[in-house]
Parts: sequence; structure tokens; C-alpha cells
Amino acid sequence: MLILLTNDDGIYAPGIRALEKELRQIAEVVVVSPAVEQSGVGHSVTFLSPIVVRQEYAEEQPRGWAVEGSPADCVKLGLFEFCPRRPDLVVSGINGGLNAGINVLYSGTVAAAIEGAFFGLTSVAVSLEYNEHAEFQKAAVLARKVILQILEQKGPEPQLYNVNIPGAALTDDKPEVKIVPMGLDRYGEAYEKRIDPRGRPYYWATTDPPPRPGETETDLTALSKGFVTITPLDFDLTKHKYLTQMSSWKFPL
Ligand code: MN
Repeated sequence: MLILLTNDDGIYAPGIRALEKELRQIAEVVVVSPAVEQSGVGHSVTFLSPIVVRQEYAEEQPRGWAVEGSPADCVKLGLFEFCPRRPDLVVSGINGGLNAGINVLYSGTVAAAIEGAFFGLTSVAVSLEYNEHAEFQKAAVLARKVILQILEQKGPEPQLYNVNIPGAALTDDKPEVKIVPMGLDRYGEAYEKRIDPRGRPYYWATTDPPPRPGETETDLTALSKGFVTITPLDFDLTKHKYLTQMSSWKFPL
């Protein structure tokens, strides 16, 4: 098995290092990852400027490629240039911080997995609840198991998965997985206004208050109960039901 591994926290982040170590036990792994952190860049791509790439070494062994670009750039370039053949799987993570609810649409981690899915490849994004002392190694062991179990159970069609691991799952003897839809509850829009040393105002997004989850079980509600969540995703943004309804509209110009 060949895995293309990327993330949005950058190639030196502890999450990708831990996952790389685990995935190398089950597959050949090609690491193509941003040179610096790209969290929150979503599905941006670089096309107005050249993309500089540097080969990275770990203990004098080639480890992967550091890309001065976005997570989506990394997947595109990885497939175009650095994978010796078409990979069997694209993995993105482990992100430091959950990518659940509508945050999925801001996430560089998930965007990289979506990019893999654009190419018809099964892709998995993996995120761990934020903690300054996050135990990425434990999370990576869990992620490896979940990824293998996904591969065992999925059909032949390529699929896109978003996996989130709450901190509580790492201290649980028997963490449980729940298959859930993405929560649609809105985050707050608060900004803290501050004054810089020259007296000018500046703003800092606080993303408060967090969403108040509704009654249906979603990634947000399941994560708050300590479940590892898996959400199957699709990137087709067409609202098909409405498309049908709109087909009778008239536009006399
Ligand atoms: Mn990130």
C-alpha cells in the first residue's frame, strides 16, 4: 500500500510526525507537507507564484518534501511529482485541533483530503482535540487502527472520510467510534478589539461563542461525549433537490 501523507500544521508538526511513524508500519508513505503552518487556509491553491519545494531528511534519511504552499498544493504536487505511483490512500493530519461542524469548511486538513478525493482517491482527514500537551503518539495509534478498519469495511468505490479524536478517547481504555453527520450549528462571530502601540485598532477573531448543538447527533455532540467520530464527506456542492425545482424557472432576457 502507498499512502500520500500531508497536513496543514506543517511538516515539522508533532501530529504528522506521529502519524507518519504509525503509517510506515502498514504502508509505504510519501510525506508532502507545507513548510510552515497553513491552518485555516481551507482549499486555497497557489497559482500566481512558483511553489518552492525542499526535500526533508530525518536522521540523514529522506523523509519527505516541504512545500511552500497550501495543503491542497501538497496533494496536487505529491500526486504529480513525488509519488512513485498512484497512491492507494491520501491521509491528512493529525491536525492539532478538531475539525468538526462547519469548521470542516475552513480546514486546510480536510481540504487536503478533499483534494485527494478530487483525484478519485480514498482520503482520510484526522484531527485531535486541541491541547497544549496533546498526546499525538497515542492518537496516531488510534488513527492507524481506525484507518485500517475503514479500509477493511469500505466498498471498492473511493470515499472521503473526516475522523476526529476527542482528548477523552485517549484516556479511555475502550474508546468508541461513532459514525455521524457534520454539525451545521453556527459558531459565534465575536472579535476582540484591541489597540496597537500606535493607537490603531485591530481585531482578533475569538470564534466565540461555540455552537449550541441541536437535538440530532452530529460530530459536535458525539465528540463532546468522548466518541471518536467518522463523517463521510462529499464535495458536490450542488443542491440537487432545488436544482430540479429551479429547472422550471423562466429567465426571459
Ligand atoms: Mn491545523
